[in-house]
Amino acid sequence: MKIVIVGAVAGGASAAARARRLDESAEIVLIERGPDPSFANCGMPYYIGGEIASRDKLLVAPIELLRDRLKLDVRVRQSVERIDRGRKRISVLDLETDREYVESFDKLILSPGAAPIRPPIPGVDSSRVYTLRNLADADKIHSAVGESQRAVVVGGGFIGVEMVENLVRRGIQTTLVERNPQVLGPWDPEMVAPLAKVMRDAGAGLRLGDEVTAIEDGPSAATLTLKSGGSLEAGVVILAIGVRPESDLASDAGLAVGQRGGIVVSPSMQTSDPDIYAVGDAVQTTSAITGKPAQAPLAGPANRQGRIAADHIFGREVGFRGVQGTAVVGCFESTAAMTGLSEKACRAEAIEYDKVCIHPASHAGYYPGAEPFSLKLLFAPTDGRVLGAQAVGGAGVDKRIDVLATAIQAGLSVYDLEEAELCYAPQYGSAKDPVNMAGFVAAGVLRGDQRQVHADAIGDEPLVLDVRSPAEHKAGALPRAVNIPIEELRERLDEVPADRPVVAYCKVGIRGYLATRLLAQHGRDASNLSGGYSSWSQHQEAQRLAAGG
Ligand code: FAD
Repeated sequence: MKIVIVGAVAGGASAAARARRLDESAEIVLIERGPDPSFANCGMPYYIGGEIASRDKLLVAPIELLRDRLKLDVRVRQSVERIDRGRKRISVLDLETDREYVESFDKLILSPGAAPIRPPIPGVDSSRVYTLRNLADADKIHSAVGESQRAVVVGGGFIGVEMVENLVRRGIQTTLVERNPQVLGPWDPEMVAPLAKVMRDAGAGLRLGDEVTAIEDGPSAATLTLKSGGSLEAGVVILAIGVRPESDLASDAGLAVGQRGGIVVSPSMQTSDPDIYAVGDAVQTTSAITGKPAQAPLAGPANRQGRIAADHIFGREVGFRGVQGTAVVGCFESTAAMTGLSEKACRAEAIEYDKVCIHPASHAGYYPGAEPFSLKLLFAPTDGRVLGAQAVGGAGVDKRIDVLATAIQAGLSVYDLEEAELCYAPQYGSAKDPVNMAGFVAAGVLRGDQRQVHADAIGDEPLVLDVRSPAEHKAGALPRAVNIPIEELRERLDEVPADRPVVAYCKVGIRGYLATRLLAQHGRDASNLSGGYSSWSQHQEAQRLAAGG
């Protein structure tokens, strides 16, 4: 068996290592266009920022290790130019000698990744404009920021946000320009609205809802013209507006490619030619939730797909389950993580959903160092199946989203979340973990124990009842809110009309829930504001940002 693998980083190197573990006798050729196989793309922003001090740390599995430990025929600085499917061979260009040669294969695995998108902006080819895909890019940016005081990052996705954090960490005056009125597009706007403040407080400039329309090179800096009419100066411009699957090699060979450019593959990662597999950022996979075509340029799927391709070549019955888009990103002292569908994805796909928002602490409040975060859970209103979750804030965000990602893959419902047995000691969590709490609230909604209203749907009719303390009320309240602290509500029931709906709220939704239970038992038509004043404030902030704030 001779396996040839194109691309020697996340998906390709995983496939090669797995193939070797399954068959000592296979000939495994790993061909990489760049100078380094198996490097840590995900660590590059932190190398540029200085958090990872040594570049060598990014070389996860150096060539010698791949050759000596795994007996792989690793060829770097070689580019696969064409696939001859009929003769089962590829043409390879040796970039050192500029000579082309032919290599045969029994099975071919494509893992060529995705290339950064370069928009057709005038001046985009300026030498001050960089994209970040490989170590050579990282090296260039690393040295360029050493010589510059100002940087602009274009695009507020994962890589853009990470680059802003790391450039600020290097002491560079950095501005992020993002077309949408929010960073991190896959999240719902109110969930990531607090990150705008986090970034500004850390010293980054933020131009949301704006676009770079032209770049003009100057002797010491480039001038970027903005759609809003303003301009920015920068010695370094990082383009991070997304990636495009590198599928030309596949499409030129007549392999099926999807509408968004991803190579079409089966669950066993076979392309439309059963002897050719494709994995990683270059492929079109399916959403594990909707079953529709999806692209997920993430390291986890690429690694798992590489492993699956190798397994399948050696006759194992395996199948990729599709992607959920489980992701996490750091943004200064905050973390944002999500899995599954967002609310806007549910709407776009016309999927029926309900949601709850809670604002728990990372661990027991009485133990020092607890950090707050916001958690939004989306679920099917029929059977409570978990559809998606997002969390933003301090410590513990990643762990809750990982639990919920597993819940989604297992097809669990909010009733299962109520029963999830999760580890607990005060410095790590709470006896009722935030995952349990989200389950309690969502299951309460479905059982009818807990009527709730969302911040974006209060309407004009209800009495808005603030059940927090007078001091909390004074510090900031919903418009037209009447303040009756929860402790006084029983005595002051006659102030709550029986002929009008009531929306009760507190800071995060717990006292509001108590109030609605109390009021309902006294014949009032009462609902709780989900996530309380905290969620309402997040919505207000998202609206302010959408309006250009
Ligand atoms: P890659 O790892 O990109 O490897 C493809 C390789 O194929 C490239 O080295 C390329 O040179 C080579 N190649 C392409 N065409 C040819 C050819 N014709 N001949 C020979 N070689 C070829 N994901 C996360 O999940 N979490 C993160 O925190 C995260 N951070 C990231 C940060 C950055 C800066 C970047 C760029 C990506 C990040 N990712 C992250 C995404 C993750 O790195 C990718 O999803 C993953 O590497 C994809 O694996 P792959 O094998 O498909 O492609």
